[in-house]
Amino acid sequence: MLFNELGLSAELLRAVSEQGYTQPTPIQAKAIPEILKGVDVLAGAQTGTGKTAGFTLPLLHRLSETAPKGGHRPVRALVLTPTRELAAQVSESVRAYGKNLPLRSAVIFGGVSINPQISALRRGVDILVATPGRLLDHVSQKTLDLSKVEILVLDEADRMLDMGFIHDIKKVLALLPKARQNLLFSATFSDEIKRLSDGLLNKPVLIEVARRNTASETVEQVIHPVDKGNKRKLLSYLIGSENWQQVLVFTRTKHGANRLAQQLDKDGLSSAAIHGNKSQGARTRALADFKSGKVRVLVATDIAARGLDIDQLPHVVNYELPNVPEDYVHRIGRTGRAGNEGKAVSLLSLDENKLIRDIERLLKRQLPREVVAGFEPDPNAKPEPEVTRSRGNQGRNRNGGRASSGRGNGNSPYAGNGRGRNTSRHSRSANA
Ligand code: AMP
Repeated sequence: MLFNELGLSAELLRAVSEQGYTQPTPIQAKAIPEILKGVDVLAGAQTGTGKTAGFTLPLLHRLSETAPKGGHRPVRALVLTPTRELAAQVSESVRAYGKNLPLRSAVIFGGVSINPQISALRRGVDILVATPGRLLDHVSQKTLDLSKVEILVLDEADRMLDMGFIHDIKKVLALLPKARQNLLFSATFSDEIKRLSDGLLNKPVLIEVARRNTASETVEQVIHPVDKGNKRKLLSYLIGSENWQQVLVFTRTKHGANRLAQQLDKDGLSSAAIHGNKSQGARTRALADFKSGKVRVLVATDIAARGLDIDQLPHVVNYELPNVPEDYVHRIGRTGRAGNEGKAVSLLSLDENKLIRDIERLLKRQLPREVVAGFEPDPNAKPEPEVTRSRGNQGRNRNGGRASSGRGNGNSPYAGNGRGRNTSRHSRSANA
């Protein structure tokens, strides 16, 4: 399949080839012709599949067919994303793919001054990429009119629901004209996503690439059992001995991310932390330093890392396993992107046995265990209280940070029975 068989205009094909893409990814090959028809689409695709171009290219094509000539330009396409980083990246894609078209785009998200956004909106914008909170701020300040939106995209809808954005989404939907095209992208399909899509989409075409909740096949995954107290040393050892130059490391908490980045720095590995408490400037800088190679290790929490687009990221380390099994899939989706090979390493301590069992159930397979010589877990180690799943949305604030570490105390009603709210439903429906 070639890009020029999908029905895209010459201007878009030129932009695509300037990006260096030679052929469409599976999601692009399936989604682009459908979206060009103007129908609603429900797409199951995780990040790394090329989904952004999958909706951006046909969206640009459709808008450019009736591009306005000057005058006031109402927002005609709205893309909602869960995080600032993802909004920024989608907006970069819109700009890159639309560079040969007379369309204007803007991106709005919180954490930065609202005034330049107001000016941009006043000048007129065809395509608006936004996070829900700041979007509604503009609506309440009457600096934004959504009554002319023709195409709505919900990107990473599952994560938007996880982050508690459902009410904001509903408020936004109420502001849009009834007749419009809706595109919903989600990596996973929970009952909540099904409810949202039932209410939102009109006879959607269902597009799925790769199996649901399946980790990307190009990622090699391995688990290193290790004592909790030895994790940092093992991580430094792996980075050094295997000469990893660009490593994304996940921790469960912001505090843990900060501490680990500082400790790795002391070990001589240049590191930065990225999480919800950092200012937008600090997050952008950390990401830029990481991408440019100035910083070798980027330590991140799940929500901060959501949507990070780093080309050919070779190594992802789960320093701590996520409380929510689906987050494992999102995390390792940072590597092995668009067909590149990647390696995902998980450091597993005794208290995380339940978490890994839940992850393996979701993946429908066992991951290989490899003990690293010199870091053998103590066979007589006292079993610690197990880390259990967090209870659904609890402990997450609106900006996506997690307020609690989700650490179980052994007496938790969710310990050991595999029935954490929300998350168990995800895996059940995925197994159905
Ligand atoms: P996404 O899933 O949209 O986050 O895209 C993942 C990565 O794949 C991004 O770095 C894109 O630039 C890249 N990409 C998107 N489409 C293609 C393509 N057709 N060929 C090669 N790389 C692509």
